[in-house]
Amino acid sequence: MNRKQSDATRVVHAAGQDGLVGRTVGPPIQRGSTVLLPNAAALHDTRGVTYGRQGLQPQASLTAALCDLEGAESAHLFSSGLAAITSAILALVKAGDEVLVTDCIYYPTRRFCDLTLKRFGVTTRYFDPALSAEDLAALITPQTRLIVLEAPGSLTLEMQDVPAIAAMAQARGVLTVIDNTWGAGLYFKPLSHGVDVSVQALTKYVCGHSDVFMGAAMAREAKVGAKLNDAALHLGASVSPDDAYQMLRGLRTLAARLEHHGRSALEIAAWLNDQPGVAEVICPGLPGSRGHEVWRRDFTGQNGLVSFVLKSQSKAAVDCFLDDLRLFGLGFSWGGFESLAIPCDSQLRHRRYPPKLAGPLVRLHVGLEDVEDLKVDLAEALVACAGAG
Ligand SMILES: *Cc1c(COP(=O)(O)O)cnc(C)c1O
Repeated sequence: MNRKQSDATRVVHAAGQDGLVGRTVGPPIQRGSTVLLPNAAALHDTRGVTYGRQGLQPQASLTAALCDLEGAESAHLFSSGLAAITSAILALVKAGDEVLVTDCIYYPTRRFCDLTLKRFGVTTRYFDPALSAEDLAALITPQTRLIVLEAPGSLTLEMQDVPAIAAMAQARGVLTVIDNTWGAGLYFKPLSHGVDVSVQALTKYVCGHSDVFMGAAMAREAKVGAKLNDAALHLGASVSPDDAYQMLRGLRTLAARLEHHGRSALEIAAWLNDQPGVAEVICPGLPGSRGHEVWRRDFTGQNGLVSFVLKSQSKAAVDCFLDDLRLFGLGFSWGGFESLAIPCDSQLRHRRYPPKLAGPLVRLHVGLEDVEDLKVDLAEALVACAGAG
């Protein structure tokens, strides 16, 4: 049969995949929903990738890098940081279980526990992040399946005694999950302290440019990793090869960026401490700040987050401070190259055990701008704020 195939057939099958053209620094961006398998036996083999939703080369390169960074047995990718933490929780609980969650958890995670987990018969109890492992152990009941931590906590940056809590939970057969977005896999290693699952919003520091969403859940042991894998498979978790490539690209410069963010943040924190309009600075890497001792014991670096309490009490004064900022943008995120500021008090209203603060709380993300320029911006806004009473 020498008949020449028609154009329509040839364009469908002309793939040109006999080896890569050249070896680049990053992985090839492999796009595909269909995965072609070499033979019939491979179609039945569920150990390998049989469908593109499971991820192709860029996703595999990214999960390998994340496993290396966090010391994990396996890493599982989700479309956002929130999807990663909610899926990790879903993966590990069943109807009738109870989850103990630190009260300083990222607010959308709390919303998921209160509204969605509840519908499936899973109860959430919040605990004061200041509780010792011993006091937390006293809260455990036969129904307690999981403890969810976040350190430092969202906005208020409370530290928790993660190693002691992980050891206590392990001894009682309770699993632990931590939101490790603050440490970015670099400054804190939860799995080495015995935590079962470390979750990161890669959207923040790993991406580093405020333009891609993704989350990852990393397991310390294969048994828990298999549950995370089931959750990703059953829920249909999938991230695009282009986005995975961008996250891998962000990882390459993570250490250099974080070092700069942290150095500037500590300088801003120390400077804020000396300003007459500031009642308190909360920044665990700053000597004298609440949480510093535990931070110094468990963490190896400071990121760009600094929260501080204003002496001015009125909401108008806080708004005046925020409106006067020029370099700090107003936005609910962090981890990118740019400086940001947000007021925290409306989110703190959801807290069951709010920290005692002398006034309104503002959170800064200190970006990669020149730190002296950032100080000028803050100084001017503090003056405007003092004028507003
Ligand atoms: C931003 C954030 C998340 C959620 O990440 P998204 O990618 O925005 O869904 C989760 N945890 C913490 C601590 C965060 O700051």
